[in-house]
Amino acid sequence: MRIPTEPIGSIPRPTELITAITSQFDGTTLQHLYADAVKDTLKEFEKTGSPVVSDGEQTKSSFVTYPLEGLQHLTSAGMTINFEDGHSRQLPLLTKGPFRYSNYADKYLTFARQSTTTPVKQAIISASALSLIYPPDGIEGYSQSEFIADLLNECEKDIRRCLNHHAYKVQMDFTEGRLSLKIDPSGGVLKQFIDLNNQVFDRFTAEEQQKLGVHVCPGGDHDSTHSADVDYADFLPQLFNLNVGNFYLQLASEPDRIKVLKIIQQYLKPNQKAFIGVIDVLNPNIESAVEVRDRILEAAQYIPLNQLGTTDDCGFSPFCDDISTTRETAFAKIKARIDGTKLAEAVLFA
Ligand SMILES: [Zn+2]
Repeated sequence: MRIPTEPIGSIPRPTELITAITSQFDGTTLQHLYADAVKDTLKEFEKTGSPVVSDGEQTKSSFVTYPLEGLQHLTSAGMTINFEDGHSRQLPLLTKGPFRYSNYADKYLTFARQSTTTPVKQAIISASALSLIYPPDGIEGYSQSEFIADLLNECEKDIRRCLNHHAYKVQMDFTEGRLSLKIDPSGGVLKQFIDLNNQVFDRFTAEEQQKLGVHVCPGGDHDSTHSADVDYADFLPQLFNLNVGNFYLQLASEPDRIKVLKIIQQYLKPNQKAFIGVIDVLNPNIESAVEVRDRILEAAQYIPLNQLGTTDDCGFSPFCDDISTTRETAFAKIKARIDGTKLAEAVLFA
């Protein structure tokens, strides 16, 4: 396709899998359900005509916790992320070093690639999100700077292993970027986050950076957000300082898309692509292909065609137990994105 289109990552898990996870079924049963869920997800993805697919994150506990699954030196007393509807998610805290990931994302990628010939992209978690697991009052015998050095190495390794295993793109999830401005409106924390993630990205060549991307959004869990009230205008100019080639930007659910598009137009660098969100993942109504086409034609007035792509506003189910959206709705919305992108191509490349 001449306008590239990619998913973000997560797809709602099948009901029987969610039941098995939440009722802590035995390992063998879970492994079978996981394998079936990944295969079914890839099959459904292919039916939408999507030129790039993901494993739907069927086997991740969440987009942020997969490298921590099963680690011993963690407590549950970490940072709490509050959502608009009143629910919250809490990060764990590390109690002992050295910090090493329990899982690297190429595990998901290689498993998915066994069941499809369509290019597979892989989402990974940012160094900045995992930096929040270091306790504010420190760890005896393991300083914060030692932790950060380990974290940067682990995050680099997570990305490099995915590139080595033929990821079509490696997308760093950076949902805490916009959230950081709620916690620190001065932008100091945001700058720290961006510097930290750039310390990872700068370990890759310019050519490799073109296969790397960053996804940002105001959060999406149980159909609710954590930072939609933070002005995108305060966030986006900093975002494009990240040294990657691709940005996957929530946009469909923004109240004033033109304002956001003008900021993207101003700050997007020549070697960067903006994949704009044309599907509102928190809205149960399924967009029509024509609606998607019109969102792309709108964006094309501000973003050069060779730098424009489309995506969904967010993953459909970043946490494994989220049942707010059905698989049927998610795939119908993805199909609308693909069909709408083709309609826009027919207009823009006529
Ligand atoms: Zn997101």
